[in-house]
Amino acid sequence: MSTDDLRVRLEADKNTIQAATEHYDFPLTFQPWGGQNQNGDYAESILMDHRGETLAYGLPDGMGIFAEQASIRWEKATTALLKLLELHKRDEYDDCSACMSAYGDGIPYPCPTVESILEVYT
Ligand SMILES: [Zn+2]
Repeated sequence: MSTDDLRVRLEADKNTIQAATEHYDFPLTFQPWGGQNQNGDYAESILMDHRGETLAYGLPDGMGIFAEQASIRWEKATTALLKLLELHKRDEYDDCSACMSAYGDGIPYPCPTVESILEVYT
């Protein structure tokens, strides 16, 4: 996967999530509630949006916590990756625009930072 492909994919993922969740006011909040079942999960827990609108009721605790944390962290992580890719671009010498060796030499693009990101998304 090239970095251009990754940028397109990250932007598409971001747009998909924003479209699917346009009716919700993030971040979500998971509130454990009610008695605990045999698994230790609270049976009447509520997942609500930032305005307090109930989105789901009775989710297993793990799913509720995941939804809450994902709503907080996903967009920030995607935005951070896109900013990182904007900083680490191919320059006119085919080196990374942000990285430099200890001797002041250019680092061939993709640099280790970009290679690490691509490795995760491949
Ligand atoms: Zn770099």
